[in-house]
Amino acid sequence: MTALASPPAASAAIERPSLVGLSREGIGAELAAIGVEPRQIRMRTAQLWSWIYQRGVTDFAAMTNISKDLRAKLADHLIVSRPEIVTEQISEDGTRKWLFRFPPRGAGRPVEVETVYIPEVGRGTLCLSSQVGCTLTCSFCHTGTQRMVRNLTAEEIVGQILMARERLGDFPDATTPVGAAVPAEGRLVSNIVMMGMGEPLYNFEHVRDALLIASDGDGIALSKRRITLSTSGVVPMIARAGAEIGVMLAISLHAVRDDLRDVLVPLNKKHKIAELLDACRAYPGLSNARRITFEYVMLKGVNDSPADARELVRLLKGIPAKINLIPFNPWPGTDYACSDWETIETFAEIVNRAGYASPIRTPRGRDILAACGQLKSESERMRARERLALEAMVADAAE
Ligand code: SF4
Repeated sequence: MTALASPPAASAAIERPSLVGLSREGIGAELAAIGVEPRQIRMRTAQLWSWIYQRGVTDFAAMTNISKDLRAKLADHLIVSRPEIVTEQISEDGTRKWLFRFPPRGAGRPVEVETVYIPEVGRGTLCLSSQVGCTLTCSFCHTGTQRMVRNLTAEEIVGQILMARERLGDFPDATTPVGAAVPAEGRLVSNIVMMGMGEPLYNFEHVRDALLIASDGDGIALSKRRITLSTSGVVPMIARAGAEIGVMLAISLHAVRDDLRDVLVPLNKKHKIAELLDACRAYPGLSNARRITFEYVMLKGVNDSPADARELVRLLKGIPAKINLIPFNPWPGTDYACSDWETIETFAEIVNRAGYASPIRTPRGRDILAACGQLKSESERMRARERLALEAMVADAAE
C-alpha cells in the first residue's frame, strides 16, 4: 500500500462561484452576470464546456480560443474548482482511494468524502459518493455508522470525476503516473458507479445534474450504459431516476426475506422487497442488454445459504437482472464476517444455473480498507487524536 501526501488546496478562490456542475443555462447566467453579450453566450458556454470537461483545464488563461480580455474577466469572477486531496492511497492490486475535501459553504465546514478507482483489464471504474455520511443505517456498512453531514452538490459530485481523471492522467495530453494500474487501452475512467458514501436517491437533483453532465456527449461523454446508480431501495424515486437520468440501475438487495432485510437495510421497513421489485420491473428500458444489477453482500451464516440463493432466483424471475455477489470486506467493530469461499461458490452456482450472470466481485483494495466510509473515519480518528493533543497542550500551557 502506498499513501501519497496531498497537494495544497486552492483556498484563495473559494469565494468565487465555480462553473463545475452548472448546466449550460447556469454557465450562461454566470456569463451574463459578468457582462458577456447575450449573442456571445451560447458560443462562450460551448467553449468553456469543452475546456472544462473534454480537456480538463482549470486555468482560464489556458483557454486559448477565448479572447484575452474575457479570460481575465472570467478569472476575476469565477473558478473551475477541484477538490483538495487529503490522502491518496494505492492498493497492491492497483485500486486507488482518495479522500477529497471540499471547501465550506457559507457558514458550513469543509467536508470530506471518499472516491475509489478500480482498474480492471478492459475498464476503469470510478465509485463516487453522493452524500457526506448517510442517514440510512445498513448494519453491514461502515458509512452507516457515520453521522450524516450534508448532501453533496452537483459541483462536488462532478468534481470527484474531474479530480480522479486529473490524477490518473485521463485528459488529452496528460501523463499517467508511472506504475499506475490502468486499463491497457481506451479511457482510464470508463465507468462510473454511484456506490460510495450516501444514498444517491436522497440527493436526487444534485445526483441527476451531475450524471447528466457526466453523460453529456460534448463533455465527459460517458455512455449512460456505463453509469450505474445504486440505491438501497428508495422506491418512490426509482421511476423518476429512470425518466430523468436514464442510467443503469443497481439495487443493494442483500437479503431475500423482509425480516432479515429489515435488519441489514433498515429502509426495508418502509419499502418491502415486493414493492422494491415491482419498481424494478417498471424501470424504463429494461432488456437483456440493459439489466438491473442486484448487489448481494455475502455474510457468513446470515444470508448465504443455498435456500437463500434459490429464493433469490425465484424473486428475480421476470426481471432482466445480473447478480453481483460481494464478499464482505470487514471493518473494525463490525459483527459480521465474510462467508467462506466454498459457501460463496455454492451460492454462485445456484444463481448461475438459473441463468443470472453472477460474478463474484473479488474484494479490491483490502489493504487500504476500500469498503466505503473507512478512510473518512480513519481521518476523523486522526483529527480527534490531534484535537486531544492540542487540548492537552492548551491545558498544559494554562497551568
Ligand atoms: S449501504 Fe449505502 S445506503 Fe446503506 S448505510 Fe451504507 S452508504 Fe448508506
